[in-house]
Amino acid sequence: PASSMEELVSLCKRRGFIFQGSEIYGGLQGFYDYGPLGVELKNNIKAAWWRANVYERDDMEGLDSSIIMHRMVLRHSGHEATFSDPMVDNKKNNKRYRLDHLVKDQKADVVDKVAQGIGEDAANFPAVVAALVRQPARASEALKAAGVRDPFSGEVGDWTEPKPFNMMFKTTIGPVADDDSYGYLRPETAQGIFTNFKNVVDSTSRRLPFGIAQIGKAFRNEITPRNFIFRVRELEQMEIEFFCVPGTDEEWHEHWLERRLSWWEAQGVPRSKIEILDVPGEDLAHYSKRTYDLMYDYPTLGHEEIEGIANRSDYDLGSHTKSQAELGLVASVTENNDSIAKLTIPHPETNKPVVPFVIEPSAGVDRALLAVLSEAFTKETLENGSERIVLKLRPHLAPIKVAVIPLARNREEITTVARAIKAELQGLGLGRVLYEDSGNIGKAYRRHDEVGTPYCVTVDFDTIGQSEGEDRGLKDTVTVRDRDTLAQERVRISELAGWIREKLR
Ligand code: ATP
Repeated sequence: PASSMEELVSLCKRRGFIFQGSEIYGGLQGFYDYGPLGVELKNNIKAAWWRANVYERDDMEGLDSSIIMHRMVLRHSGHEATFSDPMVDNKKNNKRYRLDHLVKDQKADVVDKVAQGIGEDAANFPAVVAALVRQPARASEALKAAGVRDPFSGEVGDWTEPKPFNMMFKTTIGPVADDDSYGYLRPETAQGIFTNFKNVVDSTSRRLPFGIAQIGKAFRNEITPRNFIFRVRELEQMEIEFFCVPGTDEEWHEHWLERRLSWWEAQGVPRSKIEILDVPGEDLAHYSKRTYDLMYDYPTLGHEEIEGIANRSDYDLGSHTKSQAELGLVASVTENNDSIAKLTIPHPETNKPVVPFVIEPSAGVDRALLAVLSEAFTKETLENGSERIVLKLRPHLAPIKVAVIPLARNREEITTVARAIKAELQGLGLGRVLYEDSGNIGKAYRRHDEVGTPYCVTVDFDTIGQSEGEDRGLKDTVTVRDRDTLAQERVRISELAGWIREKLR
């Protein structure tokens, strides 16, 4: 695995996985672009997730809902009122920070003093943050008294009272900008699933339990985007809302925890690197009955959330439905006089309409990609003493499956064979097969090690029967080099497609 975030950032830029967004105009903080290899890796991660959670199950449906949503959706979901992070300003330079990040990044003795100042134990950091948010005036004093430094200037700051900052992006819809003509960019894909619940049920005749899966972009105006693609303002999520009969929710919650851990394992992110955090009551989001956060051990950052698996009870459908009063909801929801749909489904035993409970496994694509890269990243010292960087990605995730390399770029007999092999292998539908004729063979191997290409196929003079003595028997064979073992094998061209298909299965 990678030993630092810098190593990954540098590889990503050097080899074309990830670039800073709007870079030629100085960049835009919290926005990243996925380059030629990044887009392949990302697509492969999403495809693996979709396969495991939609195709391999018989109780799931897929969805792709719109990004910009009616303001009423985000009002009744609770996001207008509560989707915020606490923010503080330094009056000395007008810099703004997310309160918990600011305090967490201070030296240990400063954190202790802040905790004391607000009357909490520094060992329970979430409680410290909660107390700072609850008592803004005292918080401002505690930050100043503890000598909390501004990460930008390095000097002790003059801190304002913390106040909530809503993270949703708002945008004008249509040509007239009056008070009501705005919508929100969704802060999570989940809301599109809830608003389509009735459509999916009616069009598929689904009965409980079943789930809806969606992959798509979400937008959060993070106060301090940071740590490369770990915390960005435009992110991608892979979310499932699994609807079940109230009372069976806890069992389904455990089911999904298990399923998700084994999925991560299959992507090369082992359980031993994921801590399961049973989120304490005071830290639960407004909709949650119980949440497991999967905390992956990122290089440099340490354990941070890669996926949240929440029991959202009947909060969401209950919030978006009409006729709330007659439905016997468990969650406490705010009144909804705007919805025109009743979001119920027949109870499988009694046939009476019921608002199902929801289990939500929600993973970030960007954070997944970072974890997958980090686990695959390997530095090896070879027998000859030289060092190589190799991405030991699971083959199904590799951006390029096979590189076909003509040993001589300007020998037509060789390039013709190489191009024919590329076309044949591409036709297998395994993903990208690259005709690689840049640089010499050593450089090509090094490059493909670094981007995780499982196999390099080299077409040489032996292949076209232009070699001396014993090697004449190698006509119509190619060299296949294995990324991980470095073993080189001669394979007959006529058997190559089958050989590759078998290996990449
Ligand atoms: P955090 O506490 O780290 O801000 P969160 O608890 O707000 O995350 P959720 O609302 O549970 O995150 O979102 C579900 C998933 O979406 C997260 O597990 C993460 O993988 C991803 N995610 C959330 N916010 C971001 C972000 N700003 N950048 C990248 N991925 C994100």
